[in-house]
Formats: sequence, structure tokens, C-alpha cells
Amino acid sequence: MGDAAGALREAAQRLSEISDSPRLDAELLMAHALGMERSELLLKLPELTTPDIFSALVERRQKSEPIAHIIGAKEFWGLDFQVSPDVLIPRPDSELLIESAVGMFASEPPQKILDLGTGSGALLLAALQEFPDARGVGIDASAAALQIAHNNADRLGFADRARFLMLDWTRPDWEKALGSGFDLILANPPYIAKNTRLSADVGDFEPHEALFAGEEGLDDYKIIIPALEKLLSPAGVTMLEIGFDQANIVSEMAEKRSYHVELKQDLGKNDRLLILRR
Ligand code: GLN
Repeated sequence: MGDAAGALREAAQRLSEISDSPRLDAELLMAHALGMERSELLLKLPELTTPDIFSALVERRQKSEPIAHIIGAKEFWGLDFQVSPDVLIPRPDSELLIESAVGMFASEPPQKILDLGTGSGALLLAALQEFPDARGVGIDASAAALQIAHNNADRLGFADRARFLMLDWTRPDWEKALGSGFDLILANPPYIAKNTRLSADVGDFEPHEALFAGEEGLDDYKIIIPALEKLLSPAGVTMLEIGFDQANIVSEMAEKRSYHVELKQDLGKNDRLLILRR
């Protein structure tokens, strides 16, 4: 096998056809093939040779499989999460929920945190990282997702503060098992309208249950927003991720129930977060 630097150049070229970040993709795959961090790869690059499996990994990526699935991991909020096709891959845009929670709870940190549709556990565990005295519950309708969330809580050292429950909020009385008094509720529910065409790496590989939410992408908000009444503590705050074109309609749903709503945009300047307070 040839030198790793040359193989990276060649792979980046091939991946430019399907990826917006071909060089980064190639580096992540090479680091994975070598069993090292990307930083170590970059430092030692001139002296490294390409492992045999590298070309097979590049071929998978060429077929649009997400990097996170190929390497089984994705970084979110500086933490290294295990991921699989059973969970939504944590997105950098969702870090806005954590960043905003940190800003909002600067003086009096939350004690009880709830993550609705926890998936890999990314939002809950990132929040527990920022609020070291808090405890949290993550719920999901998927047993396979909860297994991943559990693994992540264990691996990242949050097992004693994070609890996970299998709950399906399309069922009546789903919220009864949760009790009340949550100071911070995080939610990145499915919010994509049914007939939306997604790029291959998302649509062909990520769980549709975590993406699609009925005709207009609003089905899950219609359940979550009314349920907040019982779940939130009196001064509680909800961080609700939304699609780029949903700010008005979802704000209206919350305002009808007397919440004060603040809208925030992500790094790409898209509407991404609604902060709901009583
Ligand atoms: N932000 C995700 C995407 O772009 C959608 C996540 C969701 O539906 N909650 O595909």
C-alpha cells in the first residue's frame, strides 16, 4: 500500500463528487482505518502508509453512506458519541440548543432535565456535561436507540445522572411516567414534511422515524407542545429545535398556549430554535 498522504489526496478527489467536505471525510476515514485520532493522523501523516481497509471505507462513502455510520461515531459538543443507523446523527446545528441553555441558566442551573426523543442521547448528555449537578431523563420510542443512548451515557461517564425510558408519545398518557418539575426540556423531534426529498446520505441511511413528522412536519410538535404544561417546572424552559421554515407556525402553536417564544438562528443563519417560557 502507498503513502497515506497520497491516498488521502486521491480519496478526497473521488469523494468530491458526493460530499461537501471531501478532504475532511477522507481524513476521518483514514484516521479510523489507522485506529487513531484525526489530530494524530495529521501530525504523523508523512510517515504513514495506507491500511488495506481504507479503500473499502472510501467506497462506502462514495455510495453516500454517512461518515458517522462508517466509523460508528460522531462528535457533538466536544463529546464523542457512538451512533448507528438506529439514531439520528447529531448535527452541529443542534449544538445551538445547548449553547442557548448554557446562556439562559448561567446564574441558576437546572436540576432536572428532560430530552424528548433522545436518540443517541446527544442533547441530554451534552446538557449534563454543562450542568454537573443536574440529573436527566431521555425518552425515545425506539429500543435500539435507547441502547445506544445507554452506551453513550456509560462510556462518557454520565450513567449515574442519566436515565432512559422507552416511551412513545403517539400513545395516550405517555407523559404520565415522567412526572413533572423539569427545569430544562430539550427536544429535537422529527420535523420534516412527508414528501420532502432528502439528500441520499440522510434519506437512504438515517431513521425515518426520527426525521418525518406527517404531512407538514408538525405532527410531533402538536403532541409535545401541549404536554409541556404538565412537564415543566414553574420557571422551566423548553429548547425546541425546528425546521428552517417552521418558526411562524410552531411559535403560533406555543403562543396559543401562552408561552413566551424566542427564536434563534443556527450558524447557517437558518431559523433553528424556539425557546419557550411560561
Ligand atoms: N436537521 C435534520 C436534517 O437536516 C432533521 C432533524 C429532525 O427532523 N429533527 O435532516
